[in-house]
Amino acid sequence: MKVSYTRREISKDELMLQERFMAEAAELNAARGAPPLALVDTYGCQQNEADSEKLRGMLKKMGYEMTASEQEADVIVINTCAVREHAEQRVLGNVGALTHTKKAKPSQIICLCGCMMQEAGMAEKIKNSYRHVSLVFGPHELWRFPEFLLKLLRGGKRIFETSPSDGCVTEGLPSARDSSVKAWLPIMYGCNNFCSYCVVPYVRGRERSRRAEDVLREARALVEAGYKDITLLGQNVNSYGKDLPGEPDFSDLLAEINRIPGDFLIRFMTSHPKDAGEKLFSTMAKCEKCARHIHLPFQSGSNRVLSAMNRRYTRESYLELTDMARGYMPDLVLTSDVIVGFPGETEAEFEETLSLVERVRFDALFTFIFSPRRGTPAASMPDPVSREEKQRWFDRLIALQNAVSEEKHAAYVGSVHRVLIDGEDGEYLTARTSGGRLVRVLGSRALYGSFQRVRVTGSNTWALYGELL
Ligand code: SAM
Ligand code: SF4
Repeated sequence: MKVSYTRREISKDELMLQERFMAEAAELNAARGAPPLALVDTYGCQQNEADSEKLRGMLKKMGYEMTASEQEADVIVINTCAVREHAEQRVLGNVGALTHTKKAKPSQIICLCGCMMQEAGMAEKIKNSYRHVSLVFGPHELWRFPEFLLKLLRGGKRIFETSPSDGCVTEGLPSARDSSVKAWLPIMYGCNNFCSYCVVPYVRGRERSRRAEDVLREARALVEAGYKDITLLGQNVNSYGKDLPGEPDFSDLLAEINRIPGDFLIRFMTSHPKDAGEKLFSTMAKCEKCARHIHLPFQSGSNRVLSAMNRRYTRESYLELTDMARGYMPDLVLTSDVIVGFPGETEAEFEETLSLVERVRFDALFTFIFSPRRGTPAASMPDPVSREEKQRWFDRLIALQNAVSEEKHAAYVGSVHRVLIDGEDGEYLTARTSGGRLVRVLGSRALYGSFQRVRVTGSNTWALYGELL
């Protein structure tokens, strides 16, 4: 397992060159008359959402307007996820279906990027079996997208750029954000943890933090632009700064962002339980802009399974951690990730997961059935439990969590909360509490992007209902 690397920062000159490619692509596109159209389709996590905003930013600079139509698009970019097999199959199915759009519009440029493209053998598979795909690049090459697209616009051959890499840090790429209220703010990339089931360290490279001054500059710009809800992103935000001697640690970074003047909320994800602790919770409690929510994946309630997962904490230390967090913030919303059916997990071990869920009473859970990922240690561990049995365990876990979520939501009824109105859903405006709970309220769309006070009047397993005060 290799966890040291040489930091590679993409230089200003390298970025200037990409700027030039964008200008040249824009010129080519302007000569076509009507602006060409592009579609970016995103699978997977928030980091991918943030990367897609950069892809859209670059496409806009190259003269593209966005479309939702695969038939109309001149360029289609599919930003893929490799975390579970199911997402990969969906990607391959959807890419396969694009042979029809390509046939109807032979000039269409189909691009695949993201984690799945960085997996061993995937680029080769696309090259041989998906001949309508013109461009494949991994997460480490995202900043070179203008160069690749320009080559194709000039009639160049198919491009496959997925060489193995520890990853780089790129500052200054344009970003076309999806929302004018909520923003992703990556603070670090990659992962050093090598949980035995997870493909992320292999495809996203080593942990590398952005410099605090760059993160703070972006945070200030977001606040000045009116963003009200900023989520700091990293696979393990608690190891922020460890690769950059002299930079603040994650808690100090949070406190610095909290000092930026303005009315906004700071969220972050994800925290690894082995690195979260008292300093983080006390800082959260002191920072009035820090949302009262922590996503703290526990993955399993069994110490044997946690050890086989290489998670490096125990059931007991996890429980101590959640108690400590709630000690500092009694109103804290706690959410988590769980894997059911890790290779070799027994029913008794699965029941330890259930008992942990009963004990902690999470507000919400993201639940996954183990998916073997090629090249990870867990993929070659004996896995005798049938898929049907794992599904039965999974259903028991969901039923338990749904009951807890329903009870916890019911306890909100009658209470008053400050929420951020962040969207609409049918006749309702949607809003989020500081803890990230969804509240549906009736009101004017003019309230979008504002903080409001609501009284909770009803609830179900998934959401709260309220009235504006
Ligand atoms: N870095 C985050 C952490 O450690 O909590 C999580 C990142 S991962 C993209 C999100 C979640 O996917 C994990 O917390 C885990 O529950 C789940 N996951 C990852 N690999 C998986 C696999 N091979 N099978 C099933 N679920 C998996
Ligand atoms: Fe994957 Fe573990 Fe890293 Fe999270 S901490 S990205 S689960 S290896």
